[in-house]
Amino acid sequence: MTGLADLPPLREVIAKHGLSASKSLGQNFLLDSQLLDRIARVAGDLEGQRVYEVGPGPGGLTRALLRAGATVTAVERDRRCLPALAELGEASGGRLRVIEGDALGIDEKAEAGDGAHIVANLPYNVGTVLLVRWLESTAWPPFWSSLSLMFQKEVAERIVAKPGSDAYGRLAVLAQWRAEPTIALNVHRSAFVPPPKVMSAVVHIVPKVMPQGVDPARLSALTGAAFGQRRKMLRQSLKGTPGALDALAALGIATERRPETLSVDEFVALARALS
Ligand code: SAM
Repeated sequence: MTGLADLPPLREVIAKHGLSASKSLGQNFLLDSQLLDRIARVAGDLEGQRVYEVGPGPGGLTRALLRAGATVTAVERDRRCLPALAELGEASGGRLRVIEGDALGIDEKAEAGDGAHIVANLPYNVGTVLLVRWLESTAWPPFWSSLSLMFQKEVAERIVAKPGSDAYGRLAVLAQWRAEPTIALNVHRSAFVPPPKVMSAVVHIVPKVMPQGVDPARLSALTGAAFGQRRKMLRQSLKGTPGALDALAALGIATERRPETLSVDEFVALARALS
């Protein structure tokens, strides 16, 4: 029986199955097995762990996850990739389950189970939407144990940004108020086939204890309103948020401030006052 070590190189798999990269599906493949192993390691020791992967494509990252000892549930939209993934599933001794479909329509918790690690070289067109969905989970700790996700470098920087920087905004607050994001690995554009126009980075996010008394939906709406008009002072951008101006006064946060000057803790305090 073929094992993982006996699989043909990814370039051969791509040629054999005619997997020319489709731009509309955000396909930029990674083929360097050492780099793929490093990406898989960002999630920690995966021996015996469950992993949910979005967009396995020809299966490069999936191979690395399986090599690390994980059991993988992967969702792929491109049917052309399914035969290659079926071969990989067989070589893994049944540790890979592939779901054909759109990751936006998947109930990941039901498919991958509580405690799964999410690891993905995300398609750029749906990456941020999925991240926000995972960060906005009503249940906390969420069903995922960690997120290890490839983004365009500019998006990665927005996720870990600190107050006062241009990159700081809604994504930073959502990622930092009850989780800890770090940039674990920078990935040069030349590592991808075909190379995208921009550099990429793998972000690692682990949940932390959630502050008490805060309605996540309230915080999400608040950051949406504040950063929706980021050049405006809070007194202008939060005018339409009932109770916000009173809460700012009660917390001693000047209404002349602009949203990017507020710390994550200040946003949390404001959301708590409105919750
Ligand atoms: N994981 C592979 C790798 O690292 O080489 C491929 C990564 S490629 C950037 C993104 C993959 O996501 C492609 O295989 C693409 O077909 C798939 N994809 C795009 N949109 C998707 C969606 N909405 N749901 C599931 N998969 C999707």
